Order: sequence, then C-alpha cells, then structure tokens
Amino acid sequence: MHARRPDVPAVWTIRDIVTWGKEFFTSKGIDEARLTIELMVCSVLGIRRLELYTDHDRPLTKAELASLREMVQRRVKYEPLQYIIGAADFFGLSFTVNPAVLIPRPETEILVDRVLRFVNDVALPMSCLDVGTGSGIIPITVAKNASQTSWTCMDVSDGALACAHANAIKHGVADRLILVHGDFLDTVPAGGPWQVITMNPPYIAECDVAELQPEVRDFEPKEALTDNADGLSFYRRFAEVANEILAPSGTAFLEIGHGQVEKIIDILQSHRLTCEVVDDLAGIARLVIVRRT
Ligand code: SAM
Ligand code: GLN
Repeated sequence: MHARRPDVPAVWTIRDIVTWGKEFFTSKGIDEARLTIELMVCSVLGIRRLELYTDHDRPLTKAELASLREMVQRRVKYEPLQYIIGAADFFGLSFTVNPAVLIPRPETEILVDRVLRFVNDVALPMSCLDVGTGSGIIPITVAKNASQTSWTCMDVSDGALACAHANAIKHGVADRLILVHGDFLDTVPAGGPWQVITMNPPYIAECDVAELQPEVRDFEPKEALTDNADGLSFYRRFAEVANEILAPSGTAFLEIGHGQVEKIIDILQSHRLTCEVVDDLAGIARLVIVRRT
C-alpha cells in the first residue's frame, strides 16, 4: 500500500482523479459521474478512453490538474459536458460543438438512419436540403456515409454555420456542403427543389422552456430550442412551401417532439402531403417522413 493519505494524494494519477471525480460528481447529483470525469481527463490529456486504463498510473501535471479543476467547476454549475470538452458523439462520429449549437441528440440518429436507407437505395447523385443545420450533424453524417449526396444547409445563426463548416472540414465532406445563412420562416433557400429535405427545427413550445433541465434551458441557444410560439411554426412553414422546395418525387424527414405528432400530421395533410410516422425505441413518435401526392 502507498503510505499517503488517500484523500489528498501528493501526486494525482489518472486513477486517483477518476476515482475522486466519480465520487465528487455523484455527491453533486451529476448524471454519469464516472463517464463525465473520464471524458474530461481524456480531453485535457488528449488521450483515448482506453488509455485511461492502460496508463492509469500516469501522474497529472499542475497545469493539467488546473484545467481539470476548471472543467469540474463548470459542470457542477450545470454546463453540459459537451460544451466543456467541445465535442459530442453522433452516429459514431465526433463533432465539434460550442454554445452556438444544439448538442446532438440520440433521437436524431433515427432520422439519419432513415435518410441513409433512403438515399443508399439509389446510386445516382442526390441534392439535399437541411433546414436548421446547427453543428451540421445531419448533412455531414449522411454525406460521409452516402457519397452521392450533396447538401444545402441553412441556418439563421452565423455561429452555427461556422461550427458546421468546421465539422464538414473535420469529416472531409466540405466540398459537398453549401452553407447558407437565412431565416427559413420567411426565405426559401436558392438551389431547389431538393430530392431530400431534412429538418430538426426548434420545436419546443415557448411555454415549456421553463420546465427544461438546467443544462438545456440555461446553456443551449434559445433559438435552437423554441420557435417562441407553439413549437409548430417550422412544420407550418414547411407545409406551405413543400411544393416549391421538395422535388415531386422527393422525400422529407422531419424530427418532431414528444406529443406533437397529431397536430403535425394535421398540418401536413391539410397541405395534401402524405406522412409516415416513425417511433423511437420507447414507442414515442420522433420522425415524420413526408412525400408529395
Ligand atoms: N440540425 C441540428 C441537430 O439536429 O442537432 C440542429 C437542430 S436545432 C434543434 C435547430 C436549428 O435551427 C438551430 O441551429 C437554429 O439556429 C436553427 N434555426 C432557428 N431558427 C431558424 C430559422 N428561422 N431559420 C433557419 N434556421 C433556424
Ligand atoms: N430534442 C431537444 C430537446 O428535447 C430539442 C431540440 C429541438 O427543439 N429540436 O431538448
């Protein structure tokens, strides 16, 4: 045994810091305490998770400990881990994220999976539009897995477009993405109609924002979360312009929020669009696949 006080080691190794961090985050009620400290250590040391175990006796320098201390302090004030380490995983890829963009959600992988099944049925080039592109996860993941797709990506946030651009370069698909600044609620992007349209819009009703967990409500961009109305503005707008932006044989993939499916289907069907609803593993309707009639 080491002759040292376990609570204040003279030297902090990876193992010491992971053990300490797990207990500290648990005591503060932070979810996924062990994973959180592990990803922070990986970020500061620039290593992969496996190396936490193979190099568990590696001592941390003072500078590394200072960086970690700052990260830990941010997380206990509820800042999301992904903003702190500047990265989030989505569909098996790592994306750069910052407070200008929504943190990728696992629900959105359902949308990407469906888009990939659709586009990979056809080997021909396909032009696609992503509305509200954020960090660019949807077009970049699809472009990386389906080289026949090229994308117009629209967002109202310059910060989001800069982040999407960085991610497109990181994943080697920047030559197949056109990033466009614009407000979808009053502008139709140039270059259409598109064979594929994807959209994960701000769909939380303004009246529900106060109820969100602090990590979301206090840190993610408000314009990525809510339309400042009933959460349905983007579906209404999509329905109004669908015949203009969606090719006659095209397909649109729209993510939707919990409990919104009936209202959204009403909106789409009242514009003579056909809808197929896809549930997530918990049986919650998460995606509407839309075609023109
Ligand atoms: N597509 C990303 C994803 O799935 O993680 C981000 C989705 S986030 C829910 C919605 C995005 O829509 C944000 O990036 C936000 O800036 C953008 N947005 C909000 N209002 C918009 C508008 N009027 N026109 C275009 N984009 C808008
Ligand atoms: N799905 C996100 C959430 O539940 C909201 C993002 C959105 O409005 N599309 O926090």
